[in-house]
Amino acid sequence: MKQLSEKVAGIAPSATIEISNKAKKMQREGIDVISLSIGEPDFDTPKHIRDACIDALNRGETHYAPSNGIPELLTAISDKIAKENKFPCKPDQVIVTCGAKDAIYEGMEAALNPGDEVLLLTPAWVSYEPCVQMANGKIVKHAVNQKTFQLDDSILERVNARTKMIVVNSPSNPSGAVFDAKSMKLVADLCEDHDIYAMSDEIYEKLVYGKEHISLASIGDMAQRTITINGFSKAYAMTGWRLGYAAAPLAIIKEMSKVQQHSVSQATTFAMWGAVAALKGDQQCVGEMRREFDCRRKYMIAELNRMGYGTAPADGAFYAFVKVDGDDMAIAARWLEEGHVAVTPGSSFDAPGWIRLSYAASLDRLKEAMGRIERVGGN
Ligand code: PMP
Ligand code: GLU
Repeated sequence: MKQLSEKVAGIAPSATIEISNKAKKMQREGIDVISLSIGEPDFDTPKHIRDACIDALNRGETHYAPSNGIPELLTAISDKIAKENKFPCKPDQVIVTCGAKDAIYEGMEAALNPGDEVLLLTPAWVSYEPCVQMANGKIVKHAVNQKTFQLDDSILERVNARTKMIVVNSPSNPSGAVFDAKSMKLVADLCEDHDIYAMSDEIYEKLVYGKEHISLASIGDMAQRTITINGFSKAYAMTGWRLGYAAAPLAIIKEMSKVQQHSVSQATTFAMWGAVAALKGDQQCVGEMRREFDCRRKYMIAELNRMGYGTAPADGAFYAFVKVDGDDMAIAARWLEEGHVAVTPGSSFDAPGWIRLSYAASLDRLKEAMGRIERVGGN
C-alpha cells in the first residue's frame, strides 16, 4: 500500500482529547474516575439559549445558511466586539465557525505560506501547533517567564524576516495567566515594527478573576493585522454546539471563507440561533458561572499550595497549573491509574514539570480529587 500523508503522520493527537477519552473508557468500565483533564464547563447551556435553538428548529431553520453565518449572528458578534472588545468590527469582518478550533485552523490556512514562521508562546494549548503544521507553517516556540507568566524583551530574539504570525492566548490555557497591558503592548509593538500578523485567542475572556482582559486588536492599529478568535464553548457552556468565530480584516475573512466553503460549508443553522440568544440575552448566567468557577479556583489553589505544590497565577480560565517535582507524564499517569484522577501533563503544552488540572467540576468532586492526589503523592 502507498504511504499515507507524511504531514498528518507528523502531527500529534490532541493530548486533552486522548486523556479525556481514556478517562471516559475507564468510567464505562465502572471505575469512578474524576476527570480534571478536559477544559469543559460542567454546567448545562442556559435555558434561554437552548429554547432559542429549539424554536429555530421548530420554525424550520434546518437548511443551509449563508456560509459565513446568519446575518443576525454576524451583527450580534460585531456589536459585541465594538462594545466590549473595543475595536472597530463590521459584520462582514466576522466568520462563524464550527468551534473556535475551526476558526484557528481556517485562520492558519488563510494566512500561511509553506515555511512561514509562527511564534508560539509556551506553555501553549495543544491545537495551535498542529493547525500551523496542517497549514505547512513552521512553529517557533518562545517560553514565557515561568514565574510571572508575562512577556519580556527576550521574545525579540525569536523574530526574523520569516516570522509571519504570533499566537497570543490570554487568558491562557493551560497556565490561567492573563497578560497585563505591558505584555500586550510588547506584542503589539513587535507586530507593528516587524510587519507580523497576530492570532489572539480570547475564548476565556469572560473567565477573568480580578484582572482586566485586554483585546490585542484594541491596541493601536492592531485591528488591521489581528485575527481575534472567540466562541461560545466556555462563556456559555456550549462545548457540544461547536460554535466559534473569528473577527479579522476583510481580506483575511475572505480567504477563511473559502476554506470554510470547501470544508464544513458553515456552522449548524439552528445552533447559530442559540448563539444569537446567548449574545443578545441576559448575561447574568455568565456572571453566575464565573462566580462558581472563582469559588472552585480559590479552593483548588489553596488546597494545592497547602499540599506543597507551587501554582501559576490562575487569574483566568478554569485551570490550575501546578508545578510538580519529577516527571509530569509519570505523575499524571499515577494520578490516573492509582488515584483515578485524570489530569493533563504539562509536557503536552510544552511545559514539562507542570500538570494542568481543570476546575470545571463540582466542588464535591474537586474535594474528592484533592484527597486522592494527596494520598497518591506527587513524586
Ligand atoms: N482555544 C482554547 C485556548 C481552548 O482552550 C479551546 C478549548 N477547546 C479552544 C480554543 C476551542 O474551543 P471550541 O472549539 O470548543 O470553541
Ligand atoms: N480546550 C479544552 C482543553 O484544553 C478542550 C479540549 C480541546 O479541545 O483541546 O482541554
